[in-house]
Amino acid sequence: MTDLIDQLRAIVGAPHVLTEGDLTAYEQDWRKRERGKALAVVRPASAQQVADVVKACAAAGSSLVPQGGNTGLAVGGIPDASGTQVLLSLQRMNAVRDIDAANLTMTVEAGCILQTLQETAEKAGFLFPLSLAAEGSCTIGGNLATNAGGTQVVRYGNTRDLCLGLEVVTPQGEIWEGTSGLRKDNTGYDLRDLLIGSEGTLGVITAATMKLYPMPAAQLTAWAAVPSLDHAVTLLGLAHKHLGAGLTGFEVMGQFALSLVGKHMPQLRVPFLGEAAAPYCVLLENSDNESEDHARARFEALLETAFEDGCVTDAVVAENLTQAHQLWHIRESIPLAQAEEGLNIKHDISIAVSRIPAFVADTDALLQREIPGVRLVNFGHLGDGNLHYNVQAPAEGDAKAFLRDEEERVNTLVYDAVEKFGGSFSAEHGVGELKVHKLEKHKSPVALGMMRAIKRGLDPQNIMNPGRVLRLEEAS
Ligand code: FAD
Repeated sequence: MTDLIDQLRAIVGAPHVLTEGDLTAYEQDWRKRERGKALAVVRPASAQQVADVVKACAAAGSSLVPQGGNTGLAVGGIPDASGTQVLLSLQRMNAVRDIDAANLTMTVEAGCILQTLQETAEKAGFLFPLSLAAEGSCTIGGNLATNAGGTQVVRYGNTRDLCLGLEVVTPQGEIWEGTSGLRKDNTGYDLRDLLIGSEGTLGVITAATMKLYPMPAAQLTAWAAVPSLDHAVTLLGLAHKHLGAGLTGFEVMGQFALSLVGKHMPQLRVPFLGEAAAPYCVLLENSDNESEDHARARFEALLETAFEDGCVTDAVVAENLTQAHQLWHIRESIPLAQAEEGLNIKHDISIAVSRIPAFVADTDALLQREIPGVRLVNFGHLGDGNLHYNVQAPAEGDAKAFLRDEEERVNTLVYDAVEKFGGSFSAEHGVGELKVHKLEKHKSPVALGMMRAIKRGLDPQNIMNPGRVLRLEEAS
């Protein structure tokens, strides 16, 4: 392996091949669930260097794990424990190559931090709408590789919907230049869409052409108390009707999730905290291309109807951008507050919006019956049918032991319920290593067979992030 390391040094420069020192930031996953050991961390600066690294690894029979900001939640971007894998960090490839104002596109390298994309777009007078709580450290390459969702999906779609083209290094070390920026291109199989969401198992994304949008004239945010999840779904329907394409965010939060924010971040003022008339709260965002007055009038009309229909019991509308940010900050603080409360079991699930209230009622009752004392932290992107349906250990007792003894059972109960309701066990976080066996259990065998055929066809040596997303051999 010293030969390979020498070759890697020759390709990217010795300072960018890390083999010793503290490599925790590269080797440990964001949630600190697992720690791997890399043969080396390699930090290329160009697509050509990535291609040369891939060729050298393929020749040496060493597999690669691409990594962006290492904020993924499915344990897909760290090396395994073998000490034989090369960790390919895209962080140095962070240039904005081009903004094409007439085409409404921006071409960026894969290691660009998401927040940099947003700020660069804004400086040029545009909106890049992908937004998620990890935006200060995740990269666009990682967003594409996981097809990340976030808070604006209800209007703009997932990362896939925002991408017009990719530059990719194949498992053979060839460079596919596909950043054409075309909105129409029906010339056979869509390789871009195949690579998006493939979590580093089919190739390395080195650059992408992303869509830009006109900056809205006004953005208004409201926080509404709703008597039940059913009412939240009714409110969503009303919001679609009243705001049309102006509806850019629709998040739901259960009172227990909010109580954790109140407990661990007392400096944040959570509206309707602990109020019996507000078992759920909804955060709505309205973007308007005309004016703030127009936005406010539409928002008020919506809330008036919602009050009359009884699906909202109370509401506050942010007076300015600072207040709007404060409301979003509360929503985005839930995962952190949950972590402060202690170990928990996370589920990132997707169910048809219409079936969510029944799913939650059934599954809450099932879990509380099977595991008395269990605490349910329920929040998420209701507008997209995506819930973070998390399970916190009972307040009394050892949370570590709870996870050790009950995690598998909790997961089985939740994911079987998700399947019964026709949903998906992974809405936006991907499969990684964490959910490979869930894919084998819940994906249709026909779909799984096609996925394996694609993986074998594109990566016959199985060197790109092996064992993540799917195993090539049939489950025993
Ligand atoms: P990494 O973690 O480095 O990698 C993730 C996967 O992509 C790995 O399998 C890796 O091998 C692969 N990969 C990375 N870069 C490349 C590349 N250039 N080419 C090929 N493969 C690559 N996700 C959502 O969808 N919605 C949310 O609202 C959301 N909120 C989050 C909030 C927090 C606080 C955190 C920590 C995470 C959140 N996530 C969310 C998870 C989300 O998937 C990641 O934050 C992000 O998309 C991953 O980007 P990254 O650069 O950190 O990728």
